[in-house]
Amino acid sequence: MTAAPNPIDSQIYRELPDGFYTEVVPSPNRAPALLELNVRLLADYGVDESWFRTPAAAAILTGHRINVSNPPVALAYAGHQFGHWVPLLGDGRASMLGQLRTYDGGRIDVQLKGSGRTRYSRGGDGRATLGSVLREYLVSEAMAGLSIPTTRSLAVLATGDPVTRDRIHPGAVLARTARSHVRVGTFQHAAVNHGPDAVRALADHVIAHHFENLQSEPDQYARLLESVITRQARMIASWMLVGFIHGVMNTDNMSIVGETIDYGPCAFMDEFHPAKVFSSIDRRGRYAWQQQPAIAHWNLTRLAEALLPLLAPASEQAVTIAEQRLAAFAPQFDAAFHEGLGAKLGFAARSDASDAFGDTTLQLLSEQSLDFTLFFDRLTRVAADDNPEQFLTQQASVDAGDAAGESRRRQGLHEWLAHWRTLRTGAALDVERMRRANPVLIARNHRVEQAIAAAELEGHLRPFRRLAGALRSPYEIAPADQDLLLPPQPAERVRETFCGT
Ligand code: AMP
Ligand code: MG
Repeated sequence: MTAAPNPIDSQIYRELPDGFYTEVVPSPNRAPALLELNVRLLADYGVDESWFRTPAAAAILTGHRINVSNPPVALAYAGHQFGHWVPLLGDGRASMLGQLRTYDGGRIDVQLKGSGRTRYSRGGDGRATLGSVLREYLVSEAMAGLSIPTTRSLAVLATGDPVTRDRIHPGAVLARTARSHVRVGTFQHAAVNHGPDAVRALADHVIAHHFENLQSEPDQYARLLESVITRQARMIASWMLVGFIHGVMNTDNMSIVGETIDYGPCAFMDEFHPAKVFSSIDRRGRYAWQQQPAIAHWNLTRLAEALLPLLAPASEQAVTIAEQRLAAFAPQFDAAFHEGLGAKLGFAARSDASDAFGDTTLQLLSEQSLDFTLFFDRLTRVAADDNPEQFLTQQASVDAGDAAGESRRRQGLHEWLAHWRTLRTGAALDVERMRRANPVLIARNHRVEQAIAAAELEGHLRPFRRLAGALRSPYEIAPADQDLLLPPQPAERVRETFCGT
């Protein structure tokens, strides 16, 4: 019997000039072991899973050994972190193993997170805690279940070594996949640290692999900027429509292909507040829910700056081109967001009235601290079987206050519902579309934390596996999993999330 071959057999980043990557050396760990393999993801790619289950794979997927026939690299990038320029970041605890070839001939990056130190580690240990790995797995797979563009989680591995943070945690590695790991910060790195030729080489690489339709277009670099802007506008809208807060939208955490990347202190909101922040390091709310479009635009402006020398020979002309493209972000975001909000409310078509009502609805949710996901799920049920009384009772029970306050809340909801009905009679109500716009299940923080606690403190993955399984189909939920839909009890509330590096 021949051993299963390693299917990660190319390394496209080596096509880039010097300065974009460095070699990775092995980082031995005590007991490399596979904890979880995303067999469905491999099946979607059309990749055989046999190799991933071998001891050789466990060693390579934890960085314990390297594959000498296709050695890993650490990618260089720069970035603005919370608005502050950092000239060299790079994969400080990650290594790019290379690409898998999918059934349709496409290539997918496989990157390890937590696999040991690299040239870019600075003071860090290059390691990851099991908790941070499971958090990224759950949240990224939740996003995939919601059809939101995202990096994916392929495997979780134990290293057998402890990792010291606030306390001692079990060490782990996440093998994650992405269409690309090029970030806005990679372009900043090219522009600032290497100059226009490097920017061109990077842009050509990105176009050749991910924007093939732009190849040989005369204005391909302006079109690249335009495409990235469009993808980001849509992606941010789709985050916000499920109450997602990324938490660290630094330019180095923004993907050029428009996938959600680098899940750190991210969270889905329970009760809705537009200024909601979970990240323990985001003290000023820079990356709050409602800030996300403005921040994306700010980040995309940094991308445009890096691309300027490619846009036109004269810098004034280049600036004009960049400004034109950037000006498209806000209307594209707004269109995607309000289109989606209208769908959540059951309107078949977008209108000024549906946009305005969408905004009013968010205000109501915020004023009454209503659960974002449950509100829209219950409204979908009203639309389907028209039992508004039940809807009102359920909403009111989310956060019981004093009697007078309670009656005002009720009144507000009644009026809102009456208004909704008048708009319904005008616009055709599309219940099926509404169902598709309103997931019943999100990766609620307290459930994620319970899964992490079971794994880290009790040494078992049962809650993790149960949650991961349910998150695959967030629009319908098995009767046995109904408890996963519920918001946290007061004692279960998670107020802060951590980078968990
Ligand atoms: P993040 O905020 O998680 O996107 O990480 C920002 C930068 O810090 C990246 O360059 C990471 O590679 C680096 N980094 C984060 N954690 C560690 C760690 N434990 N060891 C080395 N580098 C790290
Ligand atoms: Mg990052």
